[in-house]
Amino acid sequence: MPRRTRALVRRLWRSGLVAALTMVVAAVYASPSAAANRQAAAEVAAEQAAADDWTPPANLAQGLDEVWRHVESTYGNLYGFRNYGWDQLMANGGRLQYCVRWESNTPVTAQLRDQINASIQRQWTKWFDGLRGWGNFPYAQVPVQVVGWAARDRSLLQWNDNSVDLYIGNLDSGGAPRCAPECDRFHHQDGNYSRCPGGAARHFDQSLWLTDGFGGGAGGDWGQRMGREYYLGAVNQDNIHILLHEMGHTLGLDDFYDWTPTGVGGFLMKAGTASQITEFDRWMARDFWRHLRSRYGL
Ligand SMILES: [Zn+2]
Repeated sequence: MPRRTRALVRRLWRSGLVAALTMVVAAVYASPSAAANRQAAAEVAAEQAAADDWTPPANLAQGLDEVWRHVESTYGNLYGFRNYGWDQLMANGGRLQYCVRWESNTPVTAQLRDQINASIQRQWTKWFDGLRGWGNFPYAQVPVQVVGWAARDRSLLQWNDNSVDLYIGNLDSGGAPRCAPECDRFHHQDGNYSRCPGGAARHFDQSLWLTDGFGGGAGGDWGQRMGREYYLGAVNQDNIHILLHEMGHTLGLDDFYDWTPTGVGGFLMKAGTASQITEFDRWMARDFWRHLRSRYGL
């Protein structure tokens, strides 16, 4: 501070003027409008950070842009739909719960039951590993627990402990065993599981539906379905190709039956061209999360 200014400040201080000015400045800074301004500045900074984290590799950028524009122009309720796998995850605070629909007369041992739980966990971990630490995704780990099993007959499920809820002989309109709709998020997207015998703690977000002789796979917000024979052959594999692809649909990702994004070779969501999550698949999942996260305040 120049000497003349210091001298002026001393004189003003003696006059009490500086003290008064200081109080005015403090009052303005603490006023509601100043707080709103700081809030707005913080929001701008957050938006800037969100924009900054979209940094796909140059060779994938055009294809990713094409994919999102395709999704926006073909999904009927893209931004209104509230049961993507992301919504389920956030509603539960970072975990997913499953029910297994066993549409088969093949018996299941306790060991196989536990292998199936581990296999679902392993495949979801592959998807969510791509989100860890990225784009404000809030979870480092996503635990997956099978909380129920449905079968035609109790004798098919060869365990006696009560580690999972059992739904025996509860059949859908097509005759396939199902877990209680009262516990199924698909039917209770408001999170009210008051009619589920085990309450919210035993609700399930998705079903793994295994059917004798079923070819290929199907997937959506309700879960994933594939052949029982295929699944048992793949249950201990590192990559369970069809399950991974169907989980992609649960996250909202599309199929690519009739087109290929520019500059991209094979990838998981283009059926038959890759058997594991590729970098392109990972960036498509990030893009989906990026476009939904504001609904969670992230
Ligand atoms: Zn598909």
